[in-house]
Amino acid sequence: MNEQKLEIVKSKNLKPKPQSDQIPFGRTFTDHMFVMDYEVEKGWHDPRIVPYEPLTLDPAAMIFHYGQTVFEGLKAYRAEEDRILLFRPDMNFQRLNRSSERLSIPPIDEDQVMNHLTELISIEKDWVPSTEGTSLYIRPFIIATETSLAVAPSQSYKLMIILSPVGSYFTGGLRPVTINVEDQFTRAVKGGTGMAKTAGNYSSGYQAQAKAYKEGNADVLWLDGMEKKYIEEVGSMNIFFKINGEVVTPELNGSILKGITRMSIIELLKKWDIPVVERKISVEELYKAYEEGLVEEAFGTGTAAVISPVGELNWLGRKMIINDHQIGELSQKLYDTITGIQTGKVEDRHEWTLEV
Ligand code: PMP
Repeated sequence: MNEQKLEIVKSKNLKPKPQSDQIPFGRTFTDHMFVMDYEVEKGWHDPRIVPYEPLTLDPAAMIFHYGQTVFEGLKAYRAEEDRILLFRPDMNFQRLNRSSERLSIPPIDEDQVMNHLTELISIEKDWVPSTEGTSLYIRPFIIATETSLAVAPSQSYKLMIILSPVGSYFTGGLRPVTINVEDQFTRAVKGGTGMAKTAGNYSSGYQAQAKAYKEGNADVLWLDGMEKKYIEEVGSMNIFFKINGEVVTPELNGSILKGITRMSIIELLKKWDIPVVERKISVEELYKAYEEGLVEEAFGTGTAAVISPVGELNWLGRKMIINDHQIGELSQKLYDTITGIQTGKVEDRHEWTLEV
């Protein structure tokens, strides 16, 4: 790995920062970005922080044609005494490399890039909003830049990290949502790219998303692609159910993304002595448990919302009302604990946070 000194070029035209905490997701970007290039002969090289600006790419750059790209999503939070905290950023860079491996993209040096990220955040620390529930969203991504229409891995890449202040996901606390169990479209299959954070996994879900919205649902519950039988994920989140005192989440099978929130929740539940299992769970089994009155809570988990309670599921015309559309006790406790750790209000016994 070709480790080089980080070059920093400061912007001369600083942008005004948004005043409101109701900032629409992903539309405002900070003054600087991180960039690093890859060529076969040089490896990853020329790490630099430069003013945020558009890219110039050849129309035949490989990213535009076969989607060789990966990305990550994490957040920086403003804690008391104006400390800036990142939540388990090492896990994001590990996952970026796992995604890259699946997409035949050369790996980065995780520690090196994490150091460059902390440098970028400290330059942009005034962009980390302070109102409750707000944060600075961090989007690292890699694109294939070689000019060629050949169906083969690119010989050159760009890694970039851009930053975007984001408002609160839920205004006024957690809000249980209605979800459509998707019985036609597939997000991912075993042996495919479901375990990677890559562009095509998301755009191929838009049709199912539109169908769900049209029928009054907030999102899609994805089933396995082979039999449309086993539960996989909810929208861009992992899913958990509390059934008869036990917490169940689908096991990682190659088509499910290994969420960092998911991992953290499993660790917390184990510490709290709450039974938690990772196993296959069919939608049929879930509905049977529901009919027996055993489904206590359901919630999606991810960086965006941390916890998103599910109040209702719709599957082939069959409605499931969970916990009377109320926020479950466990959902609330997990939300309070994780957001508390992220913002320095709850003691970080796991050493999950990294101060910038
Ligand atoms: N599944 C998918 C498909 C996702 O895009 C995300 C968001 N990264 C998650 C689950 C949740 O992962 P995390 O907890 O790491 O945000």
